[in-house]
Amino acid sequence: MIAPGSTIGVLGGGQLGRMLMLAGRALGYRFHVFEPKGPCAAGMVADLEINAEYTDLDALRRFAEGVDVITLEFENIPVEAIELLSAIKPVLPGQQALHICQHRQREKDFLKGSGLPCVPFEYADSADSLKSAVEATGFPCVIKTAAFGYDGKGQIKLNAPEEAADTEYLWDFLGKPPRVVVEKWIHHIGEFSVICARKADGTKTTFPMAENVHVHHILHASIVPARITEATRTAGETLACDIADKLDVVGLIAVELFLDEDGSLIINEMAPRPHNSGHYTIDGCLTSQFEQHIRAVTDLPFGSTELLRPTVMINLLGDVWGEHAPDWSALLSDPRVKLHLYDKGEARPGRKMGHFCVVGSEVEETLAAAEAHYARLAGA
Ligand code: ADP
Ligand code: MG
Repeated sequence: MIAPGSTIGVLGGGQLGRMLMLAGRALGYRFHVFEPKGPCAAGMVADLEINAEYTDLDALRRFAEGVDVITLEFENIPVEAIELLSAIKPVLPGQQALHICQHRQREKDFLKGSGLPCVPFEYADSADSLKSAVEATGFPCVIKTAAFGYDGKGQIKLNAPEEAADTEYLWDFLGKPPRVVVEKWIHHIGEFSVICARKADGTKTTFPMAENVHVHHILHASIVPARITEATRTAGETLACDIADKLDVVGLIAVELFLDEDGSLIINEMAPRPHNSGHYTIDGCLTSQFEQHIRAVTDLPFGSTELLRPTVMINLLGDVWGEHAPDWSALLSDPRVKLHLYDKGEARPGRKMGHFCVVGSEVEETLAAAEAHYARLAGA
């Protein structure tokens, strides 16, 4: 067990790291953060912020020597960095989970190889092979760069053959990546996610499934409890636990799911870290995803993930800022609202600046209240 008072190293300094540290501090842990570009949102609540590239081996070594265990809030860490760190201190989750979840093709190959339901896909590594991959997939489809994508970045949706006529142009537009996957577009009836926390001894807990609404490929809202059948809920939890075991995760794994028209669940992607769709757990559950992650990597017993009240989370992107910050007093005049701001400075469009939750008593009414608050903030 890594006792409270010990120091936890976190790779990545965004809002996920910030909320991880806020939760861990309540348990008495100290934090060092490693982030290429400072000052960062997590650095403001850390004991020490190291700003260096993931290729700076000396800086990585110093970081590892100063902490008792290492975890991450960002999975796209170069494998060489993880290897170096792992030789000095435990890195959780381990290399296997990171290697697979860093790369869309490896992720899909893993799911397919494990007999788990995933989106039909082809892959390509040139403008030429993209042409045949798109033809084999059919329309609509979506091209995704295999590595380094997030919040819909590195993705192009193609609705009809005309849009795929010039694959040289598409390839340039994607930045000539080493590899892409082409996925069939799923006409799903909803998006959901399950977060599973797992300890080294295989103990697992799952958080209540979230129903997620995306706008322009970015998460807009999470609704909990998800409005689904008990069978779907159980199926989602089983998938997440199965993946956590197969990847030998220590910490969290978030599994994004599509609910198909025929009632089956299809896995979209996984993330071996806290997840945006789990932010509702801070206000809605007895234990948050962040606290559970800390408990997993320090080998403390898990807390209850019970949902206390119906909770709706809404993301606040830089788009709602405009000339001035939104009117927080108006939002907080509803006493059921809990506001979380990440202190990121400049509010650029698409940048995740904060979120709020409405903690209600009935899910439909809670959702209506949350959307009404959001519409007022966004000036709609
Ligand atoms: P990111 O890493 O940006 O989260 P995702 O692959 O999860 O990338 O895509 C973001 C969103 O785009 C999804 O949550 C979903 O709303 C939509 N999307 C992506 N791929 C598909 C697909 N094959 N079928 C339907 N919707 C998709
Ligand atoms: Mg996603």
